[in-house]
Amino acid sequence: MLLNRAYYHVKPFLPVSLRLALRRWRARRRLAQYRDVWPIDIRAGQQPPGWPGWPGGAKFALVLTHDVEGARGLDRVDRLMALESRLGFRSCFNLVPEGEYRVPHELLDALRDNGFEVGLHGLKHDGKLYSSKAEFGRRAVRIRDYLSRWKIAGFRSPFMQHQLGWLHILGAEYDGSTFDTDPFEPQPDAAATVFPFWVPAPGQSGYVELPCTMVQDFTLFTVLGESAIDVWKRKLDWIASRRGMVLLNTHPDYMDFGPNRPARDEYPASHYEEMLNHIRQEYEGLYWHALPQDVARYYTGSLDPARRNTRKKVCFVVPDSGEAAARARRYAAALTARGDLVETISCVGSGVAAAAREIIRRHRETRFDLVQFHDRLDLLCCTAWPLKWSGAKLALDLSDLPCTRFTAMAGALADHVIASDGRVRDALNFAARAKCSVEHHVPVAVSGGNRLCRDDTPLPVVAGNPQDLEAATIGATHEENHEYVRLVDSLTTETFGG
Ligand SMILES: [Zn+2]
Repeated sequence: MLLNRAYYHVKPFLPVSLRLALRRWRARRRLAQYRDVWPIDIRAGQQPPGWPGWPGGAKFALVLTHDVEGARGLDRVDRLMALESRLGFRSCFNLVPEGEYRVPHELLDALRDNGFEVGLHGLKHDGKLYSSKAEFGRRAVRIRDYLSRWKIAGFRSPFMQHQLGWLHILGAEYDGSTFDTDPFEPQPDAAATVFPFWVPAPGQSGYVELPCTMVQDFTLFTVLGESAIDVWKRKLDWIASRRGMVLLNTHPDYMDFGPNRPARDEYPASHYEEMLNHIRQEYEGLYWHALPQDVARYYTGSLDPARRNTRKKVCFVVPDSGEAAARARRYAAALTARGDLVETISCVGSGVAAAAREIIRRHRETRFDLVQFHDRLDLLCCTAWPLKWSGAKLALDLSDLPCTRFTAMAGALADHVIASDGRVRDALNFAARAKCSVEHHVPVAVSGGNRLCRDDTPLPVVAGNPQDLEAATIGATHEENHEYVRLVDSLTTETFGG
């Protein structure tokens, strides 16, 4: 993230050729490294639980979007509109309200009158939208204003940067700043799904996330240097076979409509035309062609809030076996069952340094919303700060504290002393909090822990097994997994300024 931030500060001063060379160099290295998950990450084809299917029993949904980056792109909107209209397609044009062009009001009307949608593509196109929460807050006020004044339903961040937890404040119906898999993006962590998902805010509110599921034109033709559309065709077939959402984002800025010599970052617009023809020829009558706002409304209209799939990313750091591992498996199953992306890192056998490196590496790729550690305080100590700095919530399952004597002692003392002696209780609470101070929140899964943490302590508690639940003060009895899922939601549903 730091490197990214620095890059966007120097980017305006770098010549286009150098920027392109840097991206191509990075892409070549990544191409080999990510062969298993690009252009197809098979995890992304998993249908979410309770998925209602597409309207009319369609095999897949087809959504076309365009980000209009600069003045060059704006000049070509008409031609792109005409091309799509001629072939019977409609799309959403995402415009930058305070970028290098002024958005003509006649264009908004012309797009809508012809059945197209208008979306918002950030505020400026400078990669600094998320540089700090304060900066985001300042820009969010103006973005909200454009959304309501221009009657726009959806948003996409420039450069596909994403901080899904921050976007609630915009009040948009949907966001489209993520992707199912794209290791070539500046912020490459993927949603790993080709289906829409729900990003909940506290209460019943939230917005629909529509991940891009086709390789973007700039990446395919300019960065990777492809001269044909084979990758698009292959991905289309795969998404269709998974009955997912084909969401293709292209940029008029990089489309060469002739007759002049194309710039070095342009590709023939005929590639795009060929793809549209291909879709029609191969799948005519089998897909639901919709605007992104229609997909978002179909999603919220056909799934009530309790049944909407989320896509939180949760990592469990667990021992190979034992009660903590079994518990993690139960929690993982409960989260997976509602569509979340769960990874498990087993840390038995590897040394602390190796395990810590693995956790950081996986987090860099996936950007977990929550990392939960079982039993390994040493690992937690090694990885806590990098994880926290990048926005992950941390949790510690206290059930297998290495210093079980402490817990046992606390347990033995609890009934007799804690209730009667405030100083002992304070001391024990202080010790517990000191151990846990590095995490955001601590689900405690042991009766000793419950004793330590109940009543007047701020540590939230969820019990880990039925016996503990009976001892705990949270009142639930047989809904452990549900309680856990609820806890994960409260930890990871980050509201702006909350
Ligand atoms: Zn853009």
